Amino acid sequence: MAPKQGGRAAETTLTIVNVGYRSTNFWVISAGRARVLVDIGWPGSMGLMRATLQQMDVPLGEIRYTLATHYHIDHAGLGEEFKRAGVPLLVMDLQVDAIPRMKTWVKPQDGYVEITATGNVVISCAESRPLLARLGIAGEILPTPGHSDDSVSLLLDSGAAFTGDLTHPARVALEDPAVVAASWRLLRERGATHIYPGHGPAQPIERYLAS
Ligand SMILES: [Zn+2]
Repeated sequence: MAPKQGGRAAETTLTIVNVGYRSTNFWVISAGRARVLVDIGWPGSMGLMRATLQQMDVPLGEIRYTLATHYHIDHAGLGEEFKRAGVPLLVMDLQVDAIPRMKTWVKPQDGYVEITATGNVVISCAESRPLLARLGIAGEILPTPGHSDDSVSLLLDSGAAFTGDLTHPARVALEDPAVVAASWRLLRERGATHIYPGHGPAQPIERYLAS
């Protein structure tokens, strides 16, 4: 029998592993054997994704959900293939309309398998905390528009924030600077301390924003 720890459930230690390739980060957050993949590969790269997961000791069968920070091809390209492999796609309700637009950005030779509605688990951001808690992951999914309207971030209670392509405030081009600033403000208010972006290294938020 496991020793009791003052009557409280032991807090699960989360691990974060990057299984990215071709200059995009794909993050696996694990609570023991319950895992979530944040950003879902390039189109046509399922073989490379499987090989990378194996290299990084992440059994595909232990991934409970995939989540795209937004529906651009380098972040959500394998959503349908993962579903076929038994991993449901976790979709925020604010992202639903962006999914069909994916196919307009790919060329036939990219090998994109169109994401269908079948097998998607659609929830609101407010429902994300209890869903993640069932996996042993303390955190929430927040709307963080700016780079695109369908952009979300996964923020763990540890302070780790998976921000996808959320625009750096100093590198705003076509984006609405007020929308970008509001997303960063929300992340800070909710306790983000460490940024795990879609491209480039993970860094403390102060260093990331100063870079
Ligand atoms: Zn993007």
